[in-house]
Amino acid sequence: VGGRSLRRLCRVSCCCFASVNETHLNRFREILGDRDVVTDSDVLAVHNQDWLKQYHGKSSLMLQPRTTEAVSKVLAYCNDNRISVVPQGGNTGLVGGSIPLGDEVILSLLKMRQIRGINKTSGIVTCDAGITLEELNNFCRENAFIVPLDLGAKGSCTIGGNISTNAGGIRFLRYGTLHGTVSGLEVVMANGEIINTLDALRKDNTGYDLKQLFIGAEGSLGVVT
Ligand SMILES: Cc1cc2nc3c(=O)[nH]c(=O)nc-3n(C[C@H](O)[C@H](O)[C@H](O)COP(=O)(O)OP(=O)(O)OC[C@H]3O[C@@H](n4cnc5c(N)ncnc54)[C@H](O)[C@@H]3O)c2cc1C
Repeated sequence: VGGRSLRRLCRVSCCCFASVNETHLNRFREILGDRDVVTDSDVLAVHNQDWLKQYHGKSSLMLQPRTTEAVSKVLAYCNDNRISVVPQGGNTGLVGGSIPLGDEVILSLLKMRQIRGINKTSGIVTCDAGITLEELNNFCRENAFIVPLDLGAKGSCTIGGNISTNAGGIRFLRYGTLHGTVSGLEVVMANGEIINTLDALRKDNTGYDLKQLFIGAEGSLGVVT
């Protein structure tokens, strides 16, 4: 419920978000290229509705960045121009957090799909936020590991969405929460700043453990990339 409630509160207290216009669209096309700026209403219809068909948004624009740098540029521009944004992964969430409350821009992570690699000594795998849980688990299995998370929506839900909802699932009792099994994150803040806590070392007791803030934050504090 968190993400939706937080955004609803935000909507109540800041009523001055801009509606997307042609100038904005042109800038998004410059950043992402035409094919990753989606205005087709048939495509958008799927992303304006949640899995349970309970929540309905009215977004007229979906952006599909492929890199962290592109996410950063998009968010910085939206921030400067007071354009509201809702991050979306596989859109399998059951509490409406991935659905626009109104006409927010949908920032889809589905095109960020690379698995960066696996360190077989530490057992740490690094991947983009838009990889599905099933794809990541298949990759890990090929390397004689498993992802310590499994749930019914694995074919569609994304790692970024799993982290942002602090998903539980059927391996929870054995392996614990994502607060313990996520070793690091790359996150883009609303102003475009990139925070990188990706670390190949499991034991890291230096300073604040910033990544914990983003696990379960439903995209309210930044976009996990
Ligand atoms: C059949 C089925 C079974 C399920 N079983 C379980 C279960 O066992 N346990 C469980 O916990 N959940 C379960 N769920 C719920 C859902 O699958 C999880 O919440 C999943 O983690 C959502 O991932 P997603 O990629 O679909 O995220 P989305 O639904 O797209 O988004 C969920 C939230 O995260 C935010 N978000 C998405 N991606 C990012 C990102 N990259 N950065 C920042 N914010 C982001 C969105 O804004 C939204 O607030 C189930 C759902 C279904 C349909």
